[in-house]
Amino acid sequence: MIIIFTGNGKGKTTAALGQAMRALGYNKRVLMIQFIKGSWISGEHILISKIKNQKLKLQIKNKKLPKGLESFYNFQIIKAGKGFIKIAGDKTLFSEHKKAAQKALFLAEKAIKSQKWDLIILDEINVAVHLKLLNEKKVLDILKCIYLYPHKPVTSLHRSALTVILTGRNAPKSFIKEADLVTEMKEIKHPFQKGCLAQKSIEY
Ligand code: ATP
Ligand code: MG
Repeated sequence: MIIIFTGNGKGKTTAALGQAMRALGYNKRVLMIQFIKGSWISGEHILISKIKNQKLKLQIKNKKLPKGLESFYNFQIIKAGKGFIKIAGDKTLFSEHKKAAQKALFLAEKAIKSQKWDLIILDEINVAVHLKLLNEKKVLDILKCIYLYPHKPVTSLHRSALTVILTGRNAPKSFIKEADLVTEMKEIKHPFQKGCLAQKSIEY
């Protein structure tokens, strides 16, 4: 199934991470590919690197993974983006942003076709399409690949074994049409309006 979190309010990426947590609880394999804000280090990246370090330490000592925590190792984040575009002092060439987004899309396509994942989060992909870093039709064709690997049809909504979440403002209409679940986060209030900068552990 295809899920979209869009809109101008906060909560799109964190909602996707919440879905990741829920899926990991059921031992699902989760991959998140970040299309734009790749250079920004967030709490989720730090958490994953702590888990990986722990795994490495246990492997070196030839010890088993802590029981019940095995599923956490099935979570991967790939930071494929080149950071903010045209804001926050961005000096990267548009062509470089485009190259990075296209590389991210290539990884997404490979991941979708690999059947190695149960949940794939394409973070900020809507923005990458909106900014014309990616071709909308090409992304849509890749998304439709999830139907090549059908699930036992539990309901008509579960048309694939794989769930893909697309996040980011300005989701293209064609994505919304194809999706099974779309939520729009609407900004009512944001500390930024009072001049507050992004806060560690809330915004990143
Ligand atoms: P989150 O990652 O917190 O779930 P999001 O994915 O919905 O947020 P993005 O558009 O990706 O939102 O923005 C990333 C972060 O930047 C968010 O945490 C958000 O609170 C913050 N943000 C969004 N809009 C603004 C703004 N106008 N000014 C400052 N910060 C903003
Ligand atoms: Mg986001």
